[in-house]
Amino acid sequence: MDIFTLSLCTMLISIVMLATMIGLQGTSPRSSATADWVLAMSCFFISSLLNVVPLPTYFPAVLSPGIANTLYLLGHCFIFSGIRRHITQKNGYKLTVIVAVITLLFHFVPAIAQSLTLRIIVFHFLILFVLTGSIFYILRYRRCQPHNGFSPLLLVLGLFCAQLLVRVFVFTLNIVGLEVAVNLQLHQVGALFVMLYILASSMSFAYLITWEKEQALHTASFTDSLTQWQNRRALMHQAPKLFANALTQCNRLSILVVDVDHFKMVNDTYGHGIGDKVLQHITTQIRMAAPSASFYCRLGGEEFALLLENTTQQSALKIAEDIRARIVAFPFNESVCISLSVSIGVATAYNHDASWETILDRADKALYKAKTRGRNKVC
Ligand code: GH3
Ligand code: MG
Ligand code: MG
Repeated sequence: MDIFTLSLCTMLISIVMLATMIGLQGTSPRSSATADWVLAMSCFFISSLLNVVPLPTYFPAVLSPGIANTLYLLGHCFIFSGIRRHITQKNGYKLTVIVAVITLLFHFVPAIAQSLTLRIIVFHFLILFVLTGSIFYILRYRRCQPHNGFSPLLLVLGLFCAQLLVRVFVFTLNIVGLEVAVNLQLHQVGALFVMLYILASSMSFAYLITWEKEQALHTASFTDSLTQWQNRRALMHQAPKLFANALTQCNRLSILVVDVDHFKMVNDTYGHGIGDKVLQHITTQIRMAAPSASFYCRLGGEEFALLLENTTQQSALKIAEDIRARIVAFPFNESVCISLSVSIGVATAYNHDASWETILDRADKALYKAKTRGRNKVC
């Protein structure tokens, strides 16, 4: 394929990718980052348009490639800025402006204006600089927290960098007189890579946003929105694993079921809003009294469960007693003061227990006993 056809294809691909980025921006939770990627695709589109339809001949000859190259580099800068914004919430516009000005100006340096090869080498180094910045931010971010959503983008950036380095190397061989005689093919391969890069990077952005949305949905489906504790669905997911672990490691798994006493009265007296705050207060106090629990969840309403790994019945009873005493010692005290108490059922795995549900069932029965014995009790 000749350079013109490749530029035409790049122009068409960049306009499709621009439309994709605009669509993505409407649905993205981090729309400022996608806005930068919309700008990136716009720059790639106008740049490839200038390659297909150059400026009229009364403009200086170097102006058309100058603007096209500057816009192309701006595209890379906006990708960098979007990545930075996605990760750190700060844009990278300072770098964008500096690199754009340098790019435009260096086209008017006589030595560079006269030599296409020299122009390409300097230009490639500027792109490499921007791409390395993007890779640096992603790697640094991934070191702090595992994030597989960035993997395709990282691969695309890495491959594009690698081909740039190879091309710079071959162009340099040409400059120092070692005629490699592949200049035309080198330009064609370069144009092909640009086209593929625009396509692959846009798809990587779409993948990143979809991946993050899926993670957010996954977290939301396992989290109770009022207390930010895990919910019953998370318990179903997690408890079998903890139970199996306890079996293989021959240690005790204990379950505490905590129920707030006379909570309906709190709602009836102070309203549902205060009731919600009381539930948040209760979860904070439970966490403080039992920081060693492996799993905390809201079973529903005013009922909570704690899973304690490697905890014997005796230790579990002690922890439950600490929770009960703490709830009594720290009443709710926001605009109104409400004395509270909880009843707690405790159960520990026996060797013959077939599943974690059996333990939860026993803890439930123990809770019922605590209620019938007058509440504010551990059984
Ligand atoms: P007991 O000591 O026997 O446990 O009595 P109780 O009043 O705590 O138990 P009951 O089951 O009669 O009432 C539970 C109440 O919890 C009823 C319901 O309106 C309230 N509730 C459930 N979920 C929420 C919630 O998310 N927010 C608020 N504010 N109240 C809730
Ligand atoms: Mg209750
Ligand atoms: Mg209840």
